[in-house]
Amino acid sequence: MGRVCREAEEGVVSSCNNIRCTSFNNCNSIQCNSFTNCNNIRCNSFTNCSWWNVPCHIARAACVVAAVIALVACWVARAACIVAATIARAACFVARAACVVAAEVARIACIAAAAIARAACEVVNFVLDAIAFVVELILSIPLIGGIIRTILNWVTEIVWRIAGIFDFLASLAGIRLRKKMYFGVVVPPITPIATDADIQRQVDAVVDFYDQTCNINMIFTGICHTNVSPPDDGLTVRCDAGGFFDDWWLKGSYFEFASATCKYMDSFRRVIGLGAEIIVFIVQDVTPDNTNGCSFSSTHNWVVIEALPTDSAFVAAHEIGHACWLSHAEDTANLMNSITPAANPTLTNLQIALVRWSKHCVYI
Ligand SMILES: [Zn+2]
Repeated sequence: MGRVCREAEEGVVSSCNNIRCTSFNNCNSIQCNSFTNCNNIRCNSFTNCSWWNVPCHIARAACVVAAVIALVACWVARAACIVAATIARAACFVARAACVVAAEVARIACIAAAAIARAACEVVNFVLDAIAFVVELILSIPLIGGIIRTILNWVTEIVWRIAGIFDFLASLAGIRLRKKMYFGVVVPPITPIATDADIQRQVDAVVDFYDQTCNINMIFTGICHTNVSPPDDGLTVRCDAGGFFDDWWLKGSYFEFASATCKYMDSFRRVIGLGAEIIVFIVQDVTPDNTNGCSFSSTHNWVVIEALPTDSAFVAAHEIGHACWLSHAEDTANLMNSITPAANPTLTNLQIALVRWSKHCVYI
């Protein structure tokens, strides 16, 4: 659950970093652009008075005096304008500095508040995950824990599907906003051991396929090599009705316990179901022959795939499809064909809506 706190904090911090002072950027453009033509004020009239024309000479003198007075007034106004512009520019720079400081203080306060909120969130989630871990230990008790686990997982699946019915209808109608789903891999101490390259090939296919087909951000939480030893008869999973009941006994207990210890941080989500991580276990063998992966739909939060390399990179993607309520499809190009396509698989509109409707697939 801690990742919810981390993601929320990262979202808040990125918006904190948008706090900027965007005003007072044009202080330098405050200039006095008026009164630039004072020197053009001249008395250009009465230049041709005849020597005997006294009124003309009087008018000319008056004109020159008036022009000089206007010139002086213009220069005075120009000086006043420059002083005023300089003061305004200085005030603008002061305001700008204050604005920058205030924005920086607000940004730091915002980041600090996010960090404090995250710390509080982490504490709450640590407690929730610890409680859920105890619940998971109970769920790993053979038989009784297995039965409770099956009921709990189906009830949470159905509850969250009812809650998400309008989202399902929107997906069916083609409205598919970005959702996300978490998945991780657990490798038990078995032989043969799947290579990290083989696992990565399956992981890449899951991420790319669900991104491009369903607009789901598949967040890979990593490969956990658990030290918990599997039951004595190893990890061969029967992918039939018998396997369903095996799940209530030691194998199911093993998977539940290994999930609880390996993926502790997601314990609370797995108990309440919403946004629960899907865990891909690497096992020795899946029977019957020609089967290289298995999922019992909502019965648990894990699927299994064989350690041996396969032609198809889409085995994990196929099993995750089962975990999200997809059944087998006839179309050989469909991801859910029982013989998983080796390249470029597809899903139908209804299948896409069903996956997006799963409790594992969430907005936040
Ligand atoms: Zn299948």
